[in-house]
Amino acid sequence: MNINSNYLNLKDSYLFVMISQKVQAYKEQYPDKNIIRLGIGDVTLPLAPAVVNAMKDAVLEQGVAETFKGYGDEQGCDFLQKAVQRYYANKGVELEENEIFIGDGAKSDLGNILDIFSTDNTVLVPDPVYPVYVDTNTMAGRNIVYVYGTIENEFSPLPDTRVAADIIYLCSPNNPTGALYTKEQLALWVDYARKQDAVILFDSAYEAFVSDPNLPTSIFQVEGAKECAIEFCSLSKTAGFTGVRCGYTVVPNALKCNDVSLNKLWLRRQTTKYNGVPYIVQRGAEAAFSEEGFAQSKANTLYYLENARIIADTLTELGIWFTGGRNSPYIWLKCPNNMTSWEFFDHLLENANIVGTPGSGFGEKGEGFFRLTAFGKREDVVEAMKRFKEIA
Ligand code: PLP
Repeated sequence: MNINSNYLNLKDSYLFVMISQKVQAYKEQYPDKNIIRLGIGDVTLPLAPAVVNAMKDAVLEQGVAETFKGYGDEQGCDFLQKAVQRYYANKGVELEENEIFIGDGAKSDLGNILDIFSTDNTVLVPDPVYPVYVDTNTMAGRNIVYVYGTIENEFSPLPDTRVAADIIYLCSPNNPTGALYTKEQLALWVDYARKQDAVILFDSAYEAFVSDPNLPTSIFQVEGAKECAIEFCSLSKTAGFTGVRCGYTVVPNALKCNDVSLNKLWLRRQTTKYNGVPYIVQRGAEAAFSEEGFAQSKANTLYYLENARIIADTLTELGIWFTGGRNSPYIWLKCPNNMTSWEFFDHLLENANIVGTPGSGFGEKGEGFFRLTAFGKREDVVEAMKRFKEIA
């Protein structure tokens, strides 16, 4: 046998291993210290009661012969596709039901979609970025070019028409930078992609955090995007489904490559390699889109957003440069006194007992920056910001 040797080109990710080793060592040395974790990239609040009840009911249905269900439709249950369709209609985006693919979350679909693209495509990835985009393309041996986030472009890099690309990743609100593209900026990307005959893979996993009505929550709110974009979304951060697993991917019928429908290719891929999200989970997801479930999940999002505001206000008060913190659960700050990301990590851990995430773990341009997240408990965030002020 031969292995896929591209896997040997993957860089080991020491980021979270290093963080946990450093925190462990510090705890052993100072067992009485109260360490606050502001590096959590996972939700901490429980599922909405409406979601839990819907899943309980679905479990009972599965225990009765008359209502038992086996394999479902690989593209998702009709009732959930319709709920997603209504959700998009409320954003002013009309979708056909067959354009919506229910899946087990954005990460799988972001990786799996690459099955339908040739390995000789050039991929454009923003740096710093969610590492999955780089790793999944490295596994396939694709050529990767970068567009860089900087203080000058507020970590929302725009297209460079001199750079040729076939597949473009965009993430807004962004992980790790919390930065958001405006509609006008997204329109520049759409225009660039169409001129290049490229496809945009738009990751909107954090769209539920956008509270400013002037900011886009879907790339399809931009004219022409249906001809050049695929959108990946998830209930992970919207409704606390990180452990339950459900997401959706929109592949427009208008998206074609040399007259071949990408929607049809993705359908073929999914029906061949995937058997769908569990019925019980899809009933829970449907409830997350119901009026009651949506309001309950929204309350959790607002809780995280308030945490983010508290962090952002502290940084503003201290005169520390940052992006995010509004319309996003992430805050991306410039390390004070020109410290490197890891120097600031140590400084924060040792002097304030706060754990965050070094920006250098998200790409070359992340060096000198630091990510804080708003997924913690309110009292921890308040206490952490008090300590932050004392040491900054
Ligand atoms: N996209 C981004 C930018 C993320 O940060 C994450 C999770 O942290 C995902 C996608 C994956 O989400 P899911 O839980 O739906 O797989």
